[in-house]
Amino acid sequence: MTLSATPPPRPAWVEIDRAQFRRNLELIHADKPPGVKVLSVVKDNAFGHGAVELSRIALETGVVHLAVVTLAEALELRGAGITAPILLLGNRQLEELPWCVEHDLSCAVQDEENILALARIATRANRRAAVHLKVNTGMNRFGRHWLEATSLAELIHQQPSLELAGVMSHFAMSDESDKTFANLQIERFREVQTALEARGIRPRYYHLCNSGGLLDLPHAHFDLVRVGLLPLGVFPSKVCRRIAGIAPVMAVKTRLAAVQDIGVGDTVGYGLRYKAESPRRIGVLPVGYGDGFPRIRNQGHVLVRGHRAPLVGTVAMDAFMVDITDVPGAKIWDEVVLQGRQGDEEITAHDLAAWKGSVSYDILTSWRERLPRVYLPG
Ligand SMILES: *Cc1c(COP(=O)(O)O)cnc(C)c1O
Repeated sequence: MTLSATPPPRPAWVEIDRAQFRRNLELIHADKPPGVKVLSVVKDNAFGHGAVELSRIALETGVVHLAVVTLAEALELRGAGITAPILLLGNRQLEELPWCVEHDLSCAVQDEENILALARIATRANRRAAVHLKVNTGMNRFGRHWLEATSLAELIHQQPSLELAGVMSHFAMSDESDKTFANLQIERFREVQTALEARGIRPRYYHLCNSGGLLDLPHAHFDLVRVGLLPLGVFPSKVCRRIAGIAPVMAVKTRLAAVQDIGVGDTVGYGLRYKAESPRRIGVLPVGYGDGFPRIRNQGHVLVRGHRAPLVGTVAMDAFMVDITDVPGAKIWDEVVLQGRQGDEEITAHDLAAWKGSVSYDILTSWRERLPRVYLPG
């Protein structure tokens, strides 16, 4: 018996449209004012899309900076030969700092201890370490209170082995119609900027905007915008401004792995949660919550032959069922779309989020490694 070099892939996968990702970033570059630079947030494996793959494309389009959250994420990019500036969001434990200096990773800093430790480590290594001062303007997650940030910037400024590459903050609500709190945060951030200018301290970048801010808060663009979701073709909310042509990069697909014809009173799946009121044809999909599909029941739909097929019963770990009675010609191994387009129909990350009771960010990042990634040319 002769087998091919690799076993056949399972009939369920995540498709990443590299050309669409490139197009989305080009549209973002064309949309923003020319002076504003773009940082790509590729944390959590670029929201499940593949951080190395997408970072390379982003840098080709003119993105000047990358950002991730964990040291391992940053080291993966460096290991792949990516030399662009990388910002580590969040906060660092002391023992991570030598690694950051060694691999030229810029830390977001918010306290004296990490600033002085970074300065010492960089001095010993005969390097200059870039840091971004994180200012807490009301999110109350990471960062130093805006009234205390100026003295911290001065401390950084006094260290010859440190470069104040950025002063940054983060919006708690940028993509809703009510911009009251966002504008308050902008005002607090501007206070820091004014105080630093008075002291002659000039970071390379002031940056505050995420995708929502880029779209809806042009007065807060400053020098750089940090975008994660939007380049993936997903708008952060229903109400934020649209950029025409931006479309989803990710699609999730599978195939009908079995078909069952059931009669009146028959039930489907665990817990007998669906009971047929008329004869039904049931399609079985070999994907479940173990792949990151939300554990919903009798809610939502998939696309089969361009038709919406409603989900019946409860999603199991490795499978769930849909009603294909009204899909003409549906048969075993037909392609099924769980997220993305088929014919004239589309299921968006926002649709899945509504069924799950969550947000699009959560849907994109939930698809597990168990689903192989298929990269379309780009
Ligand atoms: C995730 C993140 C971003 C990107 O936000 P999007 O809404 O995905 O554009 C920007 N800044 C910080 C600090 C983040 O954690």
